[in-house]
Amino acid sequence: MISKDYGKYTLVCDICGVVTDEEFETFQDAVDARGDLGWKSKKIIGEWADVCPDCIE
Ligand SMILES: [Zn+2]
Repeated sequence: MISKDYGKYTLVCDICGVVTDEEFETFQDAVDARGDLGWKSKKIIGEWADVCPDCIE
């Protein structure tokens, strides 16, 4: 998921819960960076989840 904390957006893995060190100014920046960082959006039990590189099979 993309989480918003203290006005900054971070990427949180929906499987293992790891959080990126990077912080993003906008939701769109986080979405754009997701692919660059090797993360993927995956549909898990009917819901979109953000998955970190370690959790991608
Ligand atoms: Zn993960």
